[in-house]
Amino acid sequence: MRAFVITGPFQGEVRDVEPPVPEPGDVIVRVERAGVCGTDAEFFTGDMAYLHDGQARYPLRIGHEWCGVVTALGAGVPKEWLGRRVTGDTMLGCQKCARCRSGRQHLCADRFEIGIRYGYPGALAEFLPVPVFALHALPDSVGPVAGAMVEPGGNALRAVRAAGAGPGERVLILGPGTIGLLAAMFAVAEGAEVHLLGLSTGFAESLGFTCHTGVPDLPFDAVIDASNAAALPALAAETVEPGGRVVYIGLAGEPSLVDTRVIALKDLKVTGVLSASGGLAGAIERYASGAVDPTPLVGATIGLDDVAGALAGKRDPGRPPKIHIDPVS
Ligand SMILES: [Zn+2]
Ligand SMILES: [Zn+2]
Repeated sequence: MRAFVITGPFQGEVRDVEPPVPEPGDVIVRVERAGVCGTDAEFFTGDMAYLHDGQARYPLRIGHEWCGVVTALGAGVPKEWLGRRVTGDTMLGCQKCARCRSGRQHLCADRFEIGIRYGYPGALAEFLPVPVFALHALPDSVGPVAGAMVEPGGNALRAVRAAGAGPGERVLILGPGTIGLLAAMFAVAEGAEVHLLGLSTGFAESLGFTCHTGVPDLPFDAVIDASNAAALPALAAETVEPGGRVVYIGLAGEPSLVDTRVIALKDLKVTGVLSASGGLAGAIERYASGAVDPTPLVGATIGLDDVAGALAGKRDPGRPPKIHIDPVS
């Protein structure tokens, strides 16, 4: 089958690779649609932290935002899964350790991450092996585009929950990229008043969001940092109202320092978010009901042959941020 492989910094190509065969407990998914995100771009440039501490190495096969159809079952997998449209958790814990057994398998020390950690192959390929425990069935009302937006949506939804966004709450979201925009959509759906801050907010404004290029002089009950700017985590803590909530989901390329005196003296509640795991079901629900429609965030759908160019290209902030891949086109 065809798969996109990153072979080194700024080097990627489509290769013919062995198609996966289902191990016991796994299914094989024919990938309908997959997305690429900032993590994938960092794997392409070589900046991704996992490349530097041994959690990932070239050659690697990216793609952790995906949906598709189950085409084969390994031993022990219930037959009902065959032919179902699914998406799934990126995080594949060992299912045995204390963290896995207490519902925190996304923090398992031995976890694989699809398309990211310890060489687990990604979804930028025609077929993907997935353990059945990681699957989430997609209703018909969640099409391929939204289906491949469940993973970033789950991340954004967890950030919105940690922010306590709801009626009567005013939330500031830093960084109008895919996660920031999805968080804004989920927070609006929860009934919160949402403001977005970014250097360039043209696309966010076109979606009807209230946008700022500097911090507006308003009291914010919660601030979500979904940016990749090293200075913004500190700004988030400084900006939020005393007693408020700060959520960190963005990652900068260098250490982003926060003065803990600000956190203590303002009595803040601070939450970090890693992974969509606990938010996947909620994201599917909200897409299925129409409460949130993520499809306007997808600006282009390309084939595997065009992935290297897309990862190397600069993003136009006036355009929708997400690029999707149809691996059989
Ligand atoms: Zn991602
Ligand atoms: Zn584990």
